Amino acid sequence: MSSDTGVCEFCSDTFSKCGTFASCDCGKSWCSDSCAEADGLRDEWEGYTPPGETWEQDTSCEYCRKEDHGDDVLLEYALELLGMSRYELVGKYNSKKD
Ligand SMILES: [Zn+2]
Ligand SMILES: [Zn+2]
Repeated sequence: MSSDTGVCEFCSDTFSKCGTFASCDCGKSWCSDSCAEADGLRDEWEGYTPPGETWEQDTSCEYCRKEDHGDDVLLEYALELLGMSRYELVGKYNSKKD
């Protein structure tokens, strides 16, 4: 039954996909309209084609508009800016003084 359960993109709560929830054509979903709104979900009456995609969606959110990004993507970019590997960052974190 796990396929009937979704994890909210915004608050990380789990919700039942049998009930009311909000979702974007890109595959992101939220437990409530207010969470969806926080991530910028909106109807695209004229249709919306995400950058780099070829198919048109009826909705868009900050993720498919590339206004927000997953933590893994952001971490990778932050490491690039720091000129550090993930391994080095872990070492720094472990040796940091509070
Ligand atoms: Zn939520
Ligand atoms: Zn989306």
